[in-house]
This record gives sequence, C-alpha cells and structure tokens, in this order.
Amino acid sequence: MTTASTPATPDRPSVAGDPSRPPLPPGGAWHLLVIGGGTAGIVGAKAAASLGASVLLVERHRIGGDCLWTGCVPSKALLAAASRAASAERPSFPDREWPGRSAAGDPPDMQMRAEIMVGVPAEQAWALVGERFGDIGMWAAPITRSTLDAAPGPGAVRTCHVRGFGPVPAGVVHERLLTFDVAGRSLSYEADGLPGFIARAVNRWSVTAQGEGACTVRAQATLTLRGPMRPLGWLVRSRLRASATAVLDELRHHLETGTPHPRKLAAAAGPGAGSATGNATVR
Ligand SMILES: Cc1cc2nc3c(=O)[nH]c(=O)nc-3n(C[C@H](O)[C@H](O)[C@H](O)COP(=O)(O)OP(=O)(O)OC[C@H]3O[C@@H](n4cnc5c(N)ncnc54)[C@H](O)[C@@H]3O)c2cc1C
Repeated sequence: MTTASTPATPDRPSVAGDPSRPPLPPGGAWHLLVIGGGTAGIVGAKAAASLGASVLLVERHRIGGDCLWTGCVPSKALLAAASRAASAERPSFPDREWPGRSAAGDPPDMQMRAEIMVGVPAEQAWALVGERFGDIGMWAAPITRSTLDAAPGPGAVRTCHVRGFGPVPAGVVHERLLTFDVAGRSLSYEADGLPGFIARAVNRWSVTAQGEGACTVRAQATLTLRGPMRPLGWLVRSRLRASATAVLDELRHHLETGTPHPRKLAAAAGPGAGSATGNATVR
C-alpha cells in the first residue's frame, strides 16, 4: 500500500498518469520517502508533513505495523480479557464478608461458590438451612448423621458423620457456627476434622428471596491449604464444587417435594448406611 501526505490534483498528475499511483509533489520530487507504515513510519511522515515537507509513505502490507496488528493493541486487549476472566473466577468474596484468612494471616488458597434456585419461599428454605442447621443429615446424601449441641447460633457445634464430600474422606467433621444472621438469612461456620492438607475451612450459606415463591440458596467455601497442596487449590475447588452442587440439588428436591432426594434414599439404603437410615425421614 502507498499513501502520500499531498492529495492528487489536476496540476499534480499521478505517476505515469495512473490514478492509483501517488501524485508527484510540486517540483516533481518528494522531500522525504518513508518506507514502512508502522508506528515509526507514521509518526515520522506526519511530523515531516507538518513541517511542510512533501512526504511519500510506502507500506507493503498493513498500515499500523506491529503495534496495531500484532503487538501493543491486541496484547492489551488479551490482557484486559484475561484480567476480567480472572476476577470473575476469583470473586472478592468472602474475605470481606467473614474471616477467611488463616491464623498466620495468609490469604485463602481456594474459594468456591455454588448456588441454586429453589421454588419455595425464602422463609421455608431458611427454616431448613438455618433453623434446622443440625438436621443436614436428613437431606444431604454425603452426610449419614448429624447433631447440633445447642440452639443454632454462634458457638454451636454441628457434628456430621460424612460418607465422603469433595476432598473430604469418610469420617466425623465438627462444624462450629461463627455467624448466624436470622434477619439476613445467612450463617457461616468453620469445619474441624478435615484432612491434614486443609489448614482452615470456612463455609457460608445464605438464602435470598426471589419474589414471593422462590429463593436462591448459595453455598460459599474458603479453604486455606497447607504446604505442597497449595498449588492444587484449583483441583480441590473443582471437587468441592461438584459435591456442593449435588448437595444443593438434594436440598432443592427435599424442599420442593417434601421427600428425600433419590440419592439420599439410595445412600441411606446402601451398604454402610448404619444408623443413618433413620435420619432420612422428612419432617
Ligand atoms: C506482543 C507485543 C506487544 C507490544 N506492546 C507494546 C506496548 O504496549 N507499548 C509499546 O510502546 N510497544 C509495544 N510493542 C512494540 C511495538 O509494537 C513496536 O515497538 C513498534 O511496532 C515498532 O514500530 P516500527 O514502526 O518501528 O516497526 P513495525 O511496527 O514493525 O512497522 C514496520 C512496517 O514496515 C513495513 N515494511 C517493512 N519492510 C517494508 C518494505 N520493504 N516496504 C514497505 N513496507 C515495509 C511492515 O509491513 C510494517 O508495517 C509490542 C510489541 C509486541 C510484539
């Protein structure tokens, strides 16, 4: 491609009479020939033209050069897109919302959020998630039995007999309530009895009304991992999210139908169910 700072006019004929060719400047010769229409060429040509020089700029491919087509502009667009994707993947919750830092003040290594829309009023969902915090063993398939040592409120401890949940193997997990906000329909608790590679785990549940007959139930988890497991936060998160999504689905089924989810029934009837079977009753 070629371009010139001086437009063609009848008294300035194009080269060899070809209108596609650049016109010759007054006097028949260019003051300056710039080869290459990249940043340097454009800036140089423009500066010379602004000083009154007649300039011919010759570009063999695309005006703009590397900066416009492959360098500065596309790379900044990619960086901006990656930055947005990263902030969507790691939202700023829950550090500002509840204590999500380890005792040493390290930032958490893994944050996970899962939510589900349920076709019952928010009060009904909160009644099960919050007021009956201790009864999770009645509707969540991975939990065979659960008890709460006091009325729901900060300091109360829920004991869960877990069949296996995300990265947590079968065993007993104690969950101490940190916050219990009836008006805001949210609670948070810290889990104890998790595998050694988890230094701290804080979970938050909340129920938000969506009109009169529906609500959103959200589960958020923040984990601080130990030593060599820290780079594997993404793997822990992926397993945790799959399990949390399944549990929310079991909660929705329980709330909307008044009966345990088929997974809960199968888990209660399956081998190793033990004393859990009695807990699968819907109240
Ligand atoms: C990934 C990347 C990111 C970058 N980010 C930045 C940034 O953020 N900020 C910044 O300041 N710089 C950045 N740069 C550097 C910037 O792109 C270059 O400094 C700038 O493009 C150099 O301009 P230039 O005009 O010297 O060369 P070029 O941009 O390479 O332009 C040369 C032009 O000359 C043409 N040409 C070559 N030979 C001939 C010929 N014989 N006849 C006719 N035409 C010819 C070419 O087709 C080309 O259009 C980045 C570069 C890259 C690769």
